[in-house]
Amino acid sequence: LSIAEVLVVEERKVVPHPLDGFRLVHEPYYAPVAGEIDLFERAWKHRLPLLLKGPTGCGKTRFVEHMAWRLGLPLITVACNEDMTAADLTGRYLLDAGGTFWQDGPLTMAARHGGICYLDEIVEAHADTTTAIHPLTDARRILPLERHGELLRAHPDFLLVASYNPGYQGRGKGLKASTRQRFGSFSFGYPVPEAEAAIVAHESGVALEVAEQLVKLAGRTRDLLDDGLDEGASTRMLIRAGYLIRDGADIMDAVRLNVTQALSDDPEVEASLHALAQACV
Ligand code: ADP
Repeated sequence: LSIAEVLVVEERKVVPHPLDGFRLVHEPYYAPVAGEIDLFERAWKHRLPLLLKGPTGCGKTRFVEHMAWRLGLPLITVACNEDMTAADLTGRYLLDAGGTFWQDGPLTMAARHGGICYLDEIVEAHADTTTAIHPLTDARRILPLERHGELLRAHPDFLLVASYNPGYQGRGKGLKASTRQRFGSFSFGYPVPEAEAAIVAHESGVALEVAEQLVKLAGRTRDLLDDGLDEGASTRMLIRAGYLIRDGADIMDAVRLNVTQALSDDPEVEASLHALAQACV
């Protein structure tokens, strides 16, 4: 090899990024609803923390996956729960044959190396756990790791995104104003019926007419809120019913498994949902 060729080979050696395993390889399909892609990109330029609000299964996670892919960022997702402690997010000392060593938690990994940390269903976490993220959400963009004796300054490519379902507020699962106000908020709803049918058809592979029937049923269940139902059928449920229908299952069987029986444990509510389904599909 000539010196020039050696230099070319050297240049091609790509240094692996520590979070390469968290990059999305394929473009996640996402049908935009109302300018949210552009707005997310604008917020990203300023590294503004973002909150995605909306009912379960309406496309919040898919949106953040799509944006991570679009921006070429690793995506670290944390499914929040009430037993989660601040150490689960930030990190802790672990013990192995060689002694103790520090292990970064998912939030710290994203803040240290750059990428999106997505806190899914942030309200499930205790308020004192949530407080751990506060210093990362203001202009300081720091993460104090007291136990590790480190004050971590967030990587320039770090972005914090969280999701939450405002429908659960009534169960005492609201987000504290001091946390909510640190985020810019996107309000998600279910897509309009034509758009939702197109999504269901695309994702599950059922014919558009079948997807339209499923969406019609979902719309009716969403009108039943407070009538024994906490939540109506989500886009996710319709897609799952669609998988079975595409594979040849009877449409009512697919709907029973993924929608009517999945929405409620109350036999009366289940029966009225079933009647509703018979009228729609
Ligand atoms: P959640 O709001 O609970 O995070 P998801 O993002 O997991 O919901 O959405 C559930 C499913 O609905 C996704 O896997 C995807 O198939 C579909 N979906 C919902 N909205 C869209 C959309 N706008 N574009 C593409 N797929 C969508």
